Amino acid sequence: MIARVTLEIALGKEFDYLIPTEFERQIEVGSRVKVPFGPRQVMGCVTTLAESSPHTNLRSILKVVGAQSLVTPKVLALARWIADYYCCPVEIALKSVLPESVRREKEGWQKQLYARLLPVVGEKPKLTKRQIEVLTLLEEWREMPLQQLLALAETTADTVRRLEDKGLVSITPQTLERDPYAHEHILPTQALALNADQTKALSAIMAAMDVASAPAEARHPPPPAKTFLLYGVTGSGKTEVYLQAITHALQQGKGAIVLVPEISLTPQTVERFKGRFSSGPLRTLVAVLHSHLSAGERHDEWHKIRQGRARIVIGARSAIFAPVDPLGLIVVDEEHEHSYKQEEAPRYHARDVAVVRGQREGAVVVLGSATPSLESYYNVQRGKYGLLELPIRADDKQMPVVRIVDMRMEGKQEKGVPIFSQRLRDAMADRLDKKEQVMLFLNRRGYATSLQCPKCGYVAQCPNCSLALTYHRHNQKLCCHICGHEAPAPTRCPGEKCGNPAIRFAGMGTEKVEATLAKLFPHANIRRMDSDTLKRKDDYRRHLGDFRTGKIDILVGTQMIAKGLHFPNVTLVGIIYADLSLHMPDFRASERTFQLLTQVAGRAGRGDVEGEVVVQAFTPFHPAIQYARRHDFAGFYEQEIGFREQLKYPPVSRIALLTMKGRNEDKVRFSADHLKRELETGLAGIKDLIMAGPAPAPLLRAETYYRYQIMLRTRQMSRLSQSLARIAQAQKWPDDVSLTIDIDPVNLM
Ligand code: ADP
Ligand code: ZN
Repeated sequence: MIARVTLEIALGKEFDYLIPTEFERQIEVGSRVKVPFGPRQVMGCVTTLAESSPHTNLRSILKVVGAQSLVTPKVLALARWIADYYCCPVEIALKSVLPESVRREKEGWQKQLYARLLPVVGEKPKLTKRQIEVLTLLEEWREMPLQQLLALAETTADTVRRLEDKGLVSITPQTLERDPYAHEHILPTQALALNADQTKALSAIMAAMDVASAPAEARHPPPPAKTFLLYGVTGSGKTEVYLQAITHALQQGKGAIVLVPEISLTPQTVERFKGRFSSGPLRTLVAVLHSHLSAGERHDEWHKIRQGRARIVIGARSAIFAPVDPLGLIVVDEEHEHSYKQEEAPRYHARDVAVVRGQREGAVVVLGSATPSLESYYNVQRGKYGLLELPIRADDKQMPVVRIVDMRMEGKQEKGVPIFSQRLRDAMADRLDKKEQVMLFLNRRGYATSLQCPKCGYVAQCPNCSLALTYHRHNQKLCCHICGHEAPAPTRCPGEKCGNPAIRFAGMGTEKVEATLAKLFPHANIRRMDSDTLKRKDDYRRHLGDFRTGKIDILVGTQMIAKGLHFPNVTLVGIIYADLSLHMPDFRASERTFQLLTQVAGRAGRGDVEGEVVVQAFTPFHPAIQYARRHDFAGFYEQEIGFREQLKYPPVSRIALLTMKGRNEDKVRFSADHLKRELETGLAGIKDLIMAGPAPAPLLRAETYYRYQIMLRTRQMSRLSQSLARIAQAQKWPDDVSLTIDIDPVNLM
């Protein structure tokens, strides 16, 4: 037999190897193997089995890694789809599909020595006092980790070894399963009685799951949409619908994958899932996969799934590849989130992979959001997805009142524009008086966004990026938010021959908001949450814990406080500078602003008191702001889709973004021009193709690299991907210039 193997080091090719007889039973498609390659030994994955090979002088597979094949044929097929669609070699796709810790050659389980009591045969031998003590302890526990026994008995391993010699005790290594949530105390929960909208949504999902499970010949009429968009306002009880849909999957003997953006994957969220399935007849382990796990933890979680002991997986982006089999349901919560897109190869979008995987494995896919992406809503409009709506909050709470403050007017009244409008200041004072809590949101960290000299016009720039440096007051440094470059903040203008001591800081970040607040409300407890204040692993939980228990009156933060958090005592949310994200050079700027405002506003009034949101904006009449004020997604969609249609932007078309980068700008520009000519001939067959560029990237220089972009738009992306892969492979770029291809990009910078 011959095995066709992809190697981790040789990209874009497969190699044939002989399967030695002793491995014949073990090797299947998906097995991890070690093979000779030139003078080296390398790891690879079996992708095909064949009777014969066109090549001669084949070498043999050296070793099979792991008892079970790691990649199931289904997941392997998915990896192939990713490679084809996202224009990358299969090996790169496989790297995402299998976590590093699982791919390693050495078995990754941790072993621990256990002492175990053995039944006494015949007469009990004579024992020392020490030995009797140890034995008494073990009689009570039956078995326990050796280290723990030694600590309890205050003795050394020798004592226990003597008992082993006498045949009274066994000491054996046992696999120790690392459980990242071992120290959490999880309370079991019961299904809630659903309200009418939830019931309707759940029934539709369950009906689709039943159809998907039925044998093919029984499926007429043909199944309805497999994928659903669950559009439910914040707090409408989407999670409860997911939980009950998962219950249905378990009843069908199937498993489920729940994707949650990394930032929302809080212990709170995990607990809700673990709690529901920790007891009862359907009880199962719930595996958690996210980037903060240690390699060992990830290894163990993955194998719990592979062995079928954990039938439910909750995790961030890469959990979409979890080896759940059979798979009944995939939930993608907050489906509009951009973090589902991986920003390095393979540049896949986990939501889109979810839809493809669902189709292939007969699993129902539920995309949930309070602010659906235009892509998903467009698919609803075209009848590709079914729409399920939860228009009211599950607890019957009102949506918060949103007030917009025109900051241009504020600017006229005082000297310069204040950080806080009179309205926001009054509202804060009022809420603090009532002992209620306030959240303030500004999606920019640091103190000032730039350092400028009013005399000579000097602006402190990053030496590596085309970007102004941000001033951080707490450590008196200028920092680049792209590459991390740091420099001490100067006290006089460093401009040649200037030296003006009156340099100025312009713009504001969260640090300045915090400092200004401290002056306004000296008695309030203020806390700032952004990536500068989160230094240790548990900082995030600590800050939120303090806020929850009322130790903090005002929480100031970036993006990270906008999402999915639930604090009943927050009655006021202030958005300091709502149009910040409108100025991004990106066709999705409006959509992002609408989503952000809606998400942030959703934090207010989740308790008994009605919530209020104050939005400060310089373009108060912008549709993104106005529709968000009215909680009107459908209205926003209608006007935004018109704009996309006119300009042929997604979701009306699809984009491939080609970026050439290198340290020498001329070479990069020259290569990009050359690429354009190649594309013009190579893609002539794609009739609806629109090509723009090459043009400098919005951020021309990042981390010392110059970047030029070509943007391609078409409705026929699969076809374009194929051609692009072919064209890219045929090119040879100067040594220090490289090309990246990003299909369906979310980041255009
Ligand atoms: P979403 O995921 O849509 O933001 P959640 O699932 O977090 O909403 O629900 C918000 C709150 O409403 C939660 O505290 C949840 O326990 C509660 N809830 C959800 N469904 C019901 C229901 N049918 N009856 C009572 N409370 C519910
Ligand atoms: Zn930089």
